[in-house]
Amino acid sequence: MASPSVEVVEKSDERVVVRFNNIPRQYVNSLRRLAISEVPSLAIDDVVILENSSVMHDEAVAHRLGLIPLRTDPGRFVMPHECDCKSTLGCSKCRVLLVLDAEANEKSLVVTSGELVSEDEMVKPVSKDIPIIVLAPNQKLKFEAYARLGTGKDHAKWQPTAAAVVKDGKDEDEIILVIESNGALTAEGILTVAAERLASKVKNFKQAVSSLKVPKNA
Ligand SMILES: [Zn+2]
Repeated sequence: MASPSVEVVEKSDERVVVRFNNIPRQYVNSLRRLAISEVPSLAIDDVVILENSSVMHDEAVAHRLGLIPLRTDPGRFVMPHECDCKSTLGCSKCRVLLVLDAEANEKSLVVTSGELVSEDEMVKPVSKDIPIIVLAPNQKLKFEAYARLGTGKDHAKWQPTAAAVVKDGKDEDEIILVIESNGALTAEGILTVAAERLASKVKNFKQAVSSLKVPKNA
């Protein structure tokens, strides 16, 4: 059997394409699945509405905020349930506060993600142009929002991938993996964490198998 090989054929912050040769498809597909569901990124998870005179309900505003991709500095934050602060509000290691205070004067106003003010220089929406709400004249929206780490397994808003695809290559033994980022992490960062997750799952599985006991009368 020909020897397995892996080659990065395209790489930018947004997109990485990897060619696998002589590697089982299931292995490549597990990387794809882990990239979607088990690579943590930040998303707004809790919103305290201080004032909302818009036509949109508080819950709908909060839902929209959750879907804004936030630039995530990998390794700087811990998952809320793993943080040693043990506080529901969180601390600087497990959450980031973003605030917004917007009011329309005599003209209606489109409030975008660029209006969010983050307490952390590094954690910001990946784009300033994502619309949050349209305020009619004299309407106001003011809130505090808390972003936390999470994974796509818990909610789609924490998926760091815009696309994750496995497809056939030109040759019979060739499989292509394409990962596209939504901007929260780099595409390479997503793939690296997915590979680490796979390695640790395989290790745990090996340990579980080796600790199995064979019954004496088997
Ligand atoms: Zn904490």
